Amino acid sequence: MSDNKNLGQGENQSEEQPGGQPASLNGNGKLATGDRHSARDGLVLPNYHRFVTEEKYPANSESQDANARLEGLISQMLTSLGEDPNRGGLKDTPQRVRRSLTFLTDGYTKNVADVLGDAVFEESYDEMVLVRDIEMYSMCEHHMLPFFGKCHIAYIPNGKIVGLSKLPRIVDVFSHRLQVQERLTTQIAQALQDLLHPHGVGVVTEAYHLCMMMRGVQKQNSSTVASCLLGDFREDSRTRQEFLNLVSASNRRP
Ligand SMILES: [Zn+2]
Repeated sequence: MSDNKNLGQGENQSEEQPGGQPASLNGNGKLATGDRHSARDGLVLPNYHRFVTEEKYPANSESQDANARLEGLISQMLTSLGEDPNRGGLKDTPQRVRRSLTFLTDGYTKNVADVLGDAVFEESYDEMVLVRDIEMYSMCEHHMLPFFGKCHIAYIPNGKIVGLSKLPRIVDVFSHRLQVQERLTTQIAQALQDLLHPHGVGVVTEAYHLCMMMRGVQKQNSSTVASCLLGDFREDSRTRQEFLNLVSASNRRP
């Protein structure tokens, strides 16, 4: 695997290895469908076109065209909302929004195997490994508004462990896509299951959804909890309870 230490650091990463570039990047510029929402799709690169930033991949006419198209759409949206996209404050907004959206959805261009690189180790440790309070920022696919909070990840190794600093990167691979919290939670758990084949995986996410807080029911203080339990976490009530106790011990507003 190439050196992916810069993954997830933002869009100004001109030195990033282009190893994660999807094969279809230079394709026909159309969004292909396919099984983009399969729980396992973090392991292989999705095969459809991405809007890209010049900083991230070498500029080519295809990506420049895609960027220009997206900026044009954002400009049209501003007009449709009653704004004047040519006034001073909005002059560079289409470009900024395009860059921002590209960053917030760059999980489509990443896969878990590349993000982990060589950070999977043989190890006979077989007690629960738990990382709590991993920050998580995503966007709901229904309103394209942010939801954010914490993710708690635990697993019981079965001969392999993963560098702890890599767990937040796994979260980013899936949270930087248009999501629903339930699927995000399942994808994180399934990716760890597929990569490490551990005795079990437990993932709990707690999140605040701006689409609920700013609009709709306008409930400011209700968080949503989702969980995915696999293997021993599902089958062994003591393991499950130990995990949930440890997670709730960290319970506070994300
Ligand atoms: Zn929503």
